[in-house]
Amino acid sequence: MSTTSQPASPADVRAAEPQARRIPVMIPLLGEEEAEAAADAVRSGWVAQGPRVARFEREFAAVVGAGHGVAVSSCTTALHLALVVLDVGPGDEVIVPSLSFIATANAVRYVGATPVFADVDLATGNLTVETVDAVRTPRTRAVIAVHQGGVPFDVAALRRAADGWGVGLVEDAACAAGSTAYGQPVGAGAHIAAWSFHPRKIITTGEGGMVTVDDVDLAARLRRLREHGMNISAADRHASAQPVLEAYLETAYNYRMTDIQAAVGIVQLGRLAGLVAQRRALAARYQQMLADIDGVLPVRDPAYGRTNYQSFWVLLTPAFRAGRDEVLAELARQGVSARRGIMAAHLEPAYADVRPAPLPVTERLTRDSLILPLHHALTEEDQHHVVGVLHALARG
Ligand SMILES: *Cc1c(COP(=O)(O)O)cnc(C)c1O
Repeated sequence: MSTTSQPASPADVRAAEPQARRIPVMIPLLGEEEAEAAADAVRSGWVAQGPRVARFEREFAAVVGAGHGVAVSSCTTALHLALVVLDVGPGDEVIVPSLSFIATANAVRYVGATPVFADVDLATGNLTVETVDAVRTPRTRAVIAVHQGGVPFDVAALRRAADGWGVGLVEDAACAAGSTAYGQPVGAGAHIAAWSFHPRKIITTGEGGMVTVDDVDLAARLRRLREHGMNISAADRHASAQPVLEAYLETAYNYRMTDIQAAVGIVQLGRLAGLVAQRRALAARYQQMLADIDGVLPVRDPAYGRTNYQSFWVLLTPAFRAGRDEVLAELARQGVSARRGIMAAHLEPAYADVRPAPLPVTERLTRDSLILPLHHALTEEDQHHVVGVLHALARG
Protein backbone atom coordinates (compact mmCIF):
# COMPACT_ATOMS: atom_id res chain seq x y z
CA MET A 1 0.00 0.00 0.00
CA SER A 2 2.71 2.48 1.02
CA THR A 3 4.45 4.28 -1.83
CA THR A 4 6.74 6.35 0.41
CA SER A 5 9.07 3.70 1.85
CA GLN A 6 12.61 3.74 0.52
CA PRO A 7 13.85 0.78 -1.49
CA ALA A 8 16.05 -1.39 0.73
CA SER A 9 19.77 -1.18 0.15
CA PRO A 10 21.54 -4.45 -0.77
CA ALA A 11 23.07 -4.48 2.73
CA ASP A 12 19.58 -4.27 4.32
CA VAL A 13 18.37 -7.13 2.18
CA ARG A 14 21.30 -9.32 3.24
CA ALA A 15 20.80 -8.45 6.89
CA ALA A 16 17.12 -9.29 6.66
CA GLU A 17 17.72 -12.58 4.87
CA PRO A 18 18.13 -15.02 7.77
CA GLN A 19 14.71 -14.05 9.17
CA ALA A 20 13.01 -13.78 5.81
CA ARG A 21 14.15 -17.19 4.67
CA ARG A 22 11.80 -19.76 6.11
CA ILE A 23 11.38 -23.09 4.42
CA PRO A 24 7.89 -24.50 4.95
CA VAL A 25 7.42 -28.24 5.32
CA MET A 26 4.64 -28.32 2.68
CA ILE A 27 2.74 -25.85 0.52
CA PRO A 28 -0.05 -26.75 -1.86
CA LEU A 29 0.36 -25.75 -5.50
CA LEU A 30 -2.68 -23.58 -6.21
CA GLY A 31 -2.69 -21.41 -9.33
CA GLU A 32 -4.91 -19.08 -11.30
CA GLU A 33 -6.50 -22.14 -12.93
CA GLU A 34 -7.89 -23.31 -9.58
CA ALA A 35 -9.09 -19.79 -8.76
CA GLU A 36 -10.85 -19.53 -12.14
CA ALA A 37 -12.42 -22.98 -11.80
CA ALA A 38 -13.80 -22.14 -8.35
CA ALA A 39 -15.09 -18.81 -9.66
CA ASP A 40 -16.77 -20.57 -12.59
CA ALA A 41 -18.57 -22.88 -10.18
CA VAL A 42 -19.79 -19.88 -8.18
CA ARG A 43 -20.91 -18.04 -11.35
CA SER A 44 -22.80 -21.13 -12.53
CA GLY A 45 -25.12 -20.76 -9.55
CA TRP A 46 -24.66 -24.45 -8.63
CA VAL A 47 -22.35 -24.62 -5.63
CA ALA A 48 -23.47 -27.76 -3.74
CA GLN A 49 -22.73 -31.30 -4.96
CA GLY A 50 -23.50 -31.34 -8.68
CA PRO A 51 -21.98 -31.85 -12.13
CA ARG A 52 -18.44 -30.90 -11.11
CA VAL A 53 -18.44 -33.44 -8.27
CA ALA A 54 -19.66 -36.11 -10.71
CA ARG A 55 -16.87 -35.26 -13.15
CA PHE A 56 -14.21 -35.17 -10.43
CA GLU A 57 -15.35 -38.61 -9.23
CA ARG A 58 -15.08 -40.12 -12.72
CA GLU A 59 -11.70 -38.58 -13.44
CA PHE A 60 -10.19 -39.37 -10.05
CA ALA A 61 -11.34 -43.00 -10.13
CA ALA A 62 -9.78 -43.40 -13.58
CA VAL A 63 -6.46 -41.91 -12.45
CA VAL A 64 -6.17 -44.16 -9.36
CA GLY A 65 -7.30 -47.26 -11.27
CA ALA A 66 -10.67 -47.79 -9.54
CA GLY A 67 -14.09 -48.47 -11.03
CA HIS A 68 -16.08 -45.83 -9.13
CA GLY A 69 -15.38 -42.74 -7.06
CA VAL A 70 -17.70 -41.31 -4.41
CA ALA A 71 -16.63 -37.83 -3.30
CA VAL A 72 -17.08 -36.95 0.36
CA SER A 73 -16.17 -34.17 2.76
CA SER A 74 -12.84 -35.66 3.99
CA CYS A 75 -10.84 -38.85 4.22
CA THR A 76 -12.09 -39.18 7.78
CA THR A 77 -15.70 -39.37 6.59
CA ALA A 78 -14.57 -41.67 3.74
CA LEU A 79 -13.12 -44.10 6.31
CA HIS A 80 -16.31 -43.90 8.37
CA LEU A 81 -18.48 -44.79 5.35
CA ALA A 82 -16.10 -47.60 4.37
CA LEU A 83 -16.68 -49.27 7.74
CA VAL A 84 -20.45 -48.66 7.52
CA VAL A 85 -20.70 -50.42 4.13
CA LEU A 86 -18.65 -53.33 5.51
CA ASP A 87 -21.28 -53.58 8.30
CA VAL A 88 -18.67 -53.21 11.02
CA GLY A 89 -20.22 -52.37 14.37
CA PRO A 90 -20.25 -52.90 18.14
CA GLY A 91 -18.49 -56.09 19.24
CA ASP A 92 -16.26 -56.10 16.16
CA GLU A 93 -12.53 -55.51 16.21
CA VAL A 94 -10.78 -53.55 13.47
CA ILE A 95 -7.00 -53.80 13.17
CA VAL A 96 -5.30 -50.47 12.46
CA PRO A 97 -1.75 -49.18 12.68
CA SER A 98 -1.21 -46.95 15.70
CA LEU A 99 1.41 -45.22 13.53
CA SER A 100 -1.01 -43.07 11.55
CA PHE A 101 -2.88 -39.82 11.68
CA ILE A 102 -5.46 -40.30 14.43
CA ALA A 103 -8.43 -40.30 12.03
CA THR A 104 -7.60 -43.89 11.03
CA ALA A 105 -8.32 -45.19 14.55
CA ASN A 106 -11.15 -42.71 15.21
CA ALA A 107 -13.18 -44.07 12.27
CA VAL A 108 -13.34 -47.45 14.04
CA ARG A 109 -14.90 -45.84 17.09
CA TYR A 110 -17.45 -43.92 14.98
CA VAL A 111 -19.14 -47.26 14.17
CA GLY A 112 -18.89 -48.49 17.78
CA ALA A 113 -16.21 -51.07 17.00
CA THR A 114 -12.92 -51.58 18.84
CA PRO A 115 -9.61 -50.49 17.31
CA VAL A 116 -6.80 -53.01 17.77
CA PHE A 117 -3.33 -51.61 17.14
CA ALA A 118 -0.82 -53.58 15.08
CA ASP A 119 2.87 -52.80 14.67
CA VAL A 120 4.47 -51.74 11.40
CA ASP A 121 7.46 -52.49 9.24
CA LEU A 122 10.48 -50.26 9.98
CA ALA A 123 11.35 -49.48 6.36
CA THR A 124 7.86 -48.60 5.09
CA GLY A 125 5.99 -47.59 8.25
CA ASN A 126 3.18 -49.90 7.11
CA LEU A 127 1.24 -52.91 8.37
CA THR A 128 2.41 -56.30 7.08
CA VAL A 129 0.72 -59.70 6.97
CA GLU A 130 2.80 -60.71 10.00
CA THR A 131 2.03 -57.68 12.18
CA VAL A 132 -1.70 -57.97 11.42
CA ASP A 133 -1.77 -61.72 12.00
CA ALA A 134 -0.08 -61.22 15.38
CA VAL A 135 -3.09 -59.31 16.78
CA ARG A 136 -5.89 -61.04 14.85
CA THR A 137 -8.70 -62.66 16.89
CA PRO A 138 -12.02 -64.36 16.04
CA ARG A 139 -13.63 -60.92 16.49
CA THR A 140 -11.52 -59.25 13.79
CA ARG A 141 -13.98 -57.98 11.18
CA ALA A 142 -11.76 -55.66 9.18
CA VAL A 143 -8.31 -54.14 8.77
CA ILE A 144 -7.60 -50.54 7.84
CA ALA A 145 -4.15 -50.56 6.24
CA VAL A 146 -2.53 -47.20 5.54
CA HIS A 147 -0.27 -46.35 2.60
CA GLN A 148 1.69 -44.24 5.06
CA GLY A 149 3.05 -40.94 3.82
CA GLY A 150 2.49 -42.24 0.30
CA VAL A 151 4.61 -45.39 0.73
CA PRO A 152 2.46 -48.26 -0.55
CA PHE A 153 1.99 -51.28 1.69
CA ASP A 154 2.43 -54.67 0.05
CA VAL A 155 -1.01 -54.80 -1.56
CA ALA A 156 -0.56 -58.26 -3.10
CA ALA A 157 0.36 -59.85 0.22
CA LEU A 158 -2.15 -58.05 2.45
CA ARG A 159 -5.13 -58.27 0.07
CA ARG A 160 -4.54 -62.00 -0.34
CA ALA A 161 -4.17 -62.54 3.40
CA ALA A 162 -7.33 -60.54 4.23
CA ASP A 163 -9.30 -62.63 1.70
CA GLY A 164 -7.94 -65.80 3.25
CA TRP A 165 -8.89 -64.69 6.76
CA GLY A 166 -12.32 -63.55 5.60
CA VAL A 167 -11.89 -60.00 6.92
CA GLY A 168 -12.58 -56.74 5.10
CA LEU A 169 -9.62 -54.64 3.99
CA VAL A 170 -10.05 -50.87 3.88
CA GLU A 171 -7.12 -49.00 2.35
CA ASP A 172 -6.38 -45.62 3.90
CA ALA A 173 -4.86 -43.97 0.86
CA ALA A 174 -5.16 -40.44 2.29
CA CYS A 175 -1.59 -39.65 1.28
CA ALA A 176 -1.17 -42.02 -1.66
CA ALA A 177 -2.63 -40.44 -4.82
CA GLY A 178 -0.01 -41.04 -7.50
CA SER A 179 1.78 -43.87 -5.65
CA THR A 180 2.04 -47.26 -7.34
CA ALA A 181 2.36 -50.89 -6.28
CA TYR A 182 3.24 -53.74 -8.63
CA GLY A 183 3.22 -51.28 -11.51
CA GLN A 184 -0.34 -50.06 -10.92
CA PRO A 185 -1.86 -47.09 -9.08
CA VAL A 186 -2.51 -48.07 -5.45
CA GLY A 187 -6.29 -47.73 -5.93
CA ALA A 188 -6.29 -50.50 -8.57
CA GLY A 189 -7.60 -53.76 -7.17
CA ALA A 190 -8.47 -52.26 -3.77
CA HIS A 191 -11.78 -53.53 -2.42
CA ILE A 192 -12.37 -50.10 -0.88
CA ALA A 193 -9.98 -47.16 -0.55
CA ALA A 194 -10.24 -43.77 1.17
CA TRP A 195 -8.45 -40.63 -0.08
CA SER A 196 -7.83 -37.14 1.28
CA PHE A 197 -7.68 -33.75 -0.41
CA HIS A 198 -6.53 -31.82 2.66
CA PRO A 199 -3.84 -29.23 1.76
CA ARG A 200 -1.20 -31.33 3.52
CA LYS A 201 -1.77 -34.11 0.99
CA ILE A 202 -0.59 -34.45 -2.60
CA ILE A 203 -3.53 -32.65 -4.25
CA THR A 204 -6.13 -30.55 -2.49
CA THR A 205 -9.70 -29.27 -2.57
CA GLY A 206 -9.29 -27.33 0.72
CA GLU A 207 -11.01 -30.10 2.63
CA GLY A 208 -12.35 -33.14 0.85
CA GLY A 209 -12.11 -36.86 0.35
CA MET A 210 -13.12 -39.77 -1.86
CA VAL A 211 -14.06 -43.41 -1.50
CA THR A 212 -13.13 -45.60 -4.45
CA VAL A 213 -14.50 -49.09 -5.13
CA ASP A 214 -14.86 -51.44 -8.09
CA ASP A 215 -18.27 -52.80 -7.12
CA VAL A 216 -21.17 -50.80 -8.56
CA ASP A 217 -23.63 -51.72 -5.78
CA LEU A 218 -21.15 -50.68 -3.12
CA ALA A 219 -20.73 -47.35 -4.95
CA ALA A 220 -24.51 -46.85 -4.98
CA ARG A 221 -24.78 -47.50 -1.25
CA LEU A 222 -21.89 -45.11 -0.56
CA ARG A 223 -23.60 -42.37 -2.62
CA ARG A 224 -26.74 -42.85 -0.55
CA LEU A 225 -24.88 -42.87 2.75
CA ARG A 226 -23.11 -39.58 2.06
CA GLU A 227 -26.42 -37.91 1.22
CA HIS A 228 -28.88 -38.56 4.05
CA GLY A 229 -29.82 -42.03 2.75
CA MET A 230 -31.74 -40.56 -0.20
CA ASN A 231 -32.56 -42.85 -3.09
CA ILE A 232 -31.95 -40.04 -5.61
CA SER A 233 -29.34 -37.32 -5.31
CA ALA A 234 -30.49 -33.75 -4.78
CA ALA A 235 -28.61 -32.80 -7.95
CA ASP A 236 -30.54 -35.34 -10.07
CA ARG A 237 -33.82 -34.32 -8.49
CA HIS A 238 -33.25 -30.63 -9.26
CA ALA A 239 -32.11 -31.44 -12.80
CA SER A 240 -35.29 -33.37 -13.57
CA ALA A 241 -38.06 -31.66 -15.54
CA GLN A 242 -40.65 -33.74 -13.69
CA PRO A 243 -41.32 -33.53 -9.96
CA VAL A 244 -39.38 -36.35 -8.27
CA LEU A 245 -40.19 -37.50 -4.75
CA GLU A 246 -37.16 -38.81 -2.91
CA ALA A 247 -37.25 -41.57 -0.32
CA TYR A 248 -34.92 -41.96 2.66
CA LEU A 249 -33.88 -45.60 2.78
CA GLU A 250 -31.67 -45.60 5.87
CA THR A 251 -30.31 -43.27 8.53
CA ALA A 252 -27.25 -41.71 6.98
CA TYR A 253 -25.06 -38.61 6.85
CA ASN A 254 -24.35 -35.36 5.11
CA TYR A 255 -20.78 -36.00 3.96
CA ARG A 256 -21.07 -34.27 0.59
CA MET A 257 -18.34 -32.37 -1.25
CA THR A 258 -19.31 -29.06 -2.89
CA ASP A 259 -19.01 -28.28 -6.61
CA ILE A 260 -16.63 -25.42 -5.72
CA GLN A 261 -14.26 -27.95 -4.14
CA ALA A 262 -14.63 -30.39 -7.03
CA ALA A 263 -13.86 -27.63 -9.55
CA VAL A 264 -10.54 -27.09 -7.77
CA GLY A 265 -10.01 -30.85 -7.55
CA ILE A 266 -10.41 -31.34 -11.32
CA VAL A 267 -7.61 -28.84 -11.96
CA GLN A 268 -5.45 -30.35 -9.21
CA LEU A 269 -5.89 -33.82 -10.68
CA GLY A 270 -4.34 -32.53 -13.91
CA ARG A 271 -1.25 -31.55 -11.91
CA LEU A 272 -0.88 -34.87 -10.08
CA ALA A 273 1.56 -36.67 -12.39
CA GLY A 274 3.82 -33.61 -12.61
CA LEU A 275 3.74 -33.04 -8.86
CA VAL A 276 4.68 -36.66 -8.16
CA ALA A 277 7.53 -36.61 -10.71
CA GLN A 278 8.88 -33.43 -9.16
CA ARG A 279 8.59 -34.77 -5.60
CA ARG A 280 10.42 -37.94 -6.60
CA ALA A 281 13.24 -35.89 -8.14
CA LEU A 282 13.54 -33.74 -5.00
CA ALA A 283 13.49 -36.87 -2.81
CA ALA A 284 16.25 -38.47 -4.90
CA ARG A 285 18.38 -35.36 -4.40
CA TYR A 286 17.78 -35.46 -0.62
CA GLN A 287 18.77 -39.14 -0.58
CA GLN A 288 22.00 -38.33 -2.41
CA MET A 289 22.82 -35.40 -0.13
CA LEU A 290 22.09 -37.44 3.02
CA ALA A 291 24.01 -40.52 1.93
CA ASP A 292 27.24 -39.55 3.71
CA ILE A 293 25.66 -38.67 7.06
CA ASP A 294 25.89 -41.55 9.53
CA GLY A 295 22.70 -42.34 11.39
CA VAL A 296 20.17 -40.76 9.02
CA LEU A 297 18.01 -43.24 7.09
CA PRO A 298 15.75 -41.60 4.50
CA VAL A 299 12.48 -43.23 3.40
CA ARG A 300 12.77 -45.07 0.07
CA ASP A 301 10.66 -46.95 -2.45
CA PRO A 302 9.77 -50.46 -1.31
CA ALA A 303 10.81 -53.30 -3.66
CA TYR A 304 7.23 -53.70 -4.98
CA GLY A 305 6.28 -50.08 -5.58
CA ARG A 306 6.88 -46.37 -5.79
CA THR A 307 5.98 -43.70 -3.25
CA ASN A 308 4.78 -40.24 -4.24
CA TYR A 309 6.89 -38.92 -1.32
CA GLN A 310 3.87 -37.15 0.17
CA SER A 311 6.03 -37.19 3.31
CA PHE A 312 9.80 -37.37 3.12
CA TRP A 313 10.77 -38.77 6.49
CA VAL A 314 14.17 -39.70 7.85
CA LEU A 315 14.82 -42.09 10.73
CA LEU A 316 17.63 -41.18 13.12
CA THR A 317 19.60 -44.16 14.39
CA PRO A 318 21.85 -44.22 17.50
CA ALA A 319 24.79 -43.45 15.19
CA PHE A 320 23.45 -39.89 14.87
CA ARG A 321 24.80 -37.55 17.53
CA ALA A 322 21.64 -35.56 18.23
CA GLY A 323 18.17 -36.61 19.33
CA ARG A 324 15.12 -36.03 17.15
CA ASP A 325 13.69 -33.12 19.17
CA GLU A 326 17.09 -31.44 19.23
CA VAL A 327 17.23 -31.75 15.43
CA LEU A 328 13.74 -30.26 15.08
CA ALA A 329 14.67 -27.36 17.37
CA GLU A 330 17.88 -26.62 15.46
CA LEU A 331 16.09 -26.79 12.09
CA ALA A 332 13.49 -24.33 13.44
CA ARG A 333 16.28 -21.99 14.59
CA GLN A 334 17.72 -22.14 11.08
CA GLY A 335 14.40 -21.25 9.47
CA VAL A 336 13.40 -24.78 8.48
CA SER A 337 9.92 -25.96 9.30
CA ALA A 338 10.22 -29.73 9.77
CA ARG A 339 7.80 -32.00 11.63
CA ARG A 340 8.00 -34.89 14.04
CA GLY A 341 7.52 -38.24 12.35
CA ILE A 342 4.13 -39.90 12.00
CA MET A 343 2.20 -39.84 15.29
CA ALA A 344 1.25 -42.96 17.23
CA ALA A 345 -2.40 -42.99 18.29
CA HIS A 346 -1.86 -45.35 21.23
CA LEU A 347 0.35 -42.72 22.93
CA GLU A 348 -2.39 -40.06 22.82
CA PRO A 349 -4.78 -39.37 25.70
CA ALA A 350 -7.78 -40.26 23.53
CA TYR A 351 -6.52 -43.88 23.42
CA ALA A 352 -5.15 -44.13 26.94
CA ASP A 353 -7.78 -46.79 27.72
CA VAL A 354 -6.44 -49.13 25.02
CA ARG A 355 -3.81 -51.63 26.15
CA PRO A 356 -2.11 -52.67 22.94
CA ALA A 357 0.38 -55.50 22.49
CA PRO A 358 3.95 -54.13 22.39
CA LEU A 359 4.52 -51.84 19.40
CA PRO A 360 8.32 -51.47 19.38
CA VAL A 361 8.73 -50.42 15.74
CA THR A 362 5.85 -47.93 15.95
CA GLU A 363 7.36 -46.36 19.07
CA ARG A 364 10.79 -46.17 17.51
CA LEU A 365 9.51 -44.57 14.30
CA THR A 366 7.36 -42.00 16.07
CA ARG A 367 10.16 -41.11 18.50
CA ASP A 368 13.17 -41.07 16.19
CA SER A 369 11.90 -39.87 12.81
CA LEU A 370 11.18 -36.46 11.36
CA ILE A 371 9.63 -35.12 8.19
CA LEU A 372 11.74 -32.76 6.07
CA PRO A 373 10.33 -29.99 3.85
CA LEU A 374 9.27 -31.21 0.41
CA HIS A 375 7.08 -29.18 -1.93
CA HIS A 376 6.97 -27.83 -5.48
CA ALA A 377 8.72 -24.55 -4.57
CA LEU A 378 11.66 -26.21 -2.78
CA THR A 379 14.96 -25.24 -4.46
CA GLU A 380 18.28 -27.06 -4.57
CA GLU A 381 19.63 -24.27 -2.36
CA ASP A 382 16.85 -24.93 0.18
CA GLN A 383 17.76 -28.61 0.22
CA HIS A 384 21.45 -27.75 0.79
CA HIS A 385 20.40 -25.53 3.67
CA VAL A 386 18.26 -28.27 5.29
CA VAL A 387 20.90 -30.96 4.85
CA GLY A 388 23.59 -28.53 6.02
CA VAL A 389 21.87 -28.28 9.39
CA LEU A 390 21.94 -32.08 9.70
CA HIS A 391 25.60 -32.15 8.64
CA ALA A 392 26.50 -29.60 11.31
CA LEU A 393 24.65 -31.60 13.99
CA ALA A 394 26.34 -34.81 12.83
CA ARG A 395 29.75 -33.17 13.27
CA GLY A 396 28.71 -32.17 16.79
C1 LIG B 1 -4.68 -36.93 6.59
C2 LIG B 1 -5.01 -38.31 6.89
C3 LIG B 1 -6.32 -38.69 7.18
C4 LIG B 1 -7.44 -37.70 7.34
O1 LIG B 1 -7.71 -37.01 6.16
P1 LIG B 1 -8.78 -35.80 6.20
O2 LIG B 1 -9.13 -35.61 4.76
O3 LIG B 1 -8.07 -34.62 6.77
O4 LIG B 1 -9.93 -36.23 7.01
C5 LIG B 1 -6.58 -40.03 7.39
N1 LIG B 1 -5.60 -40.96 7.32
C6 LIG B 1 -4.33 -40.62 7.03
C7 LIG B 1 -3.29 -41.69 6.95
C8 LIG B 1 -3.98 -39.29 6.82
O5 LIG B 1 -2.71 -38.96 6.58
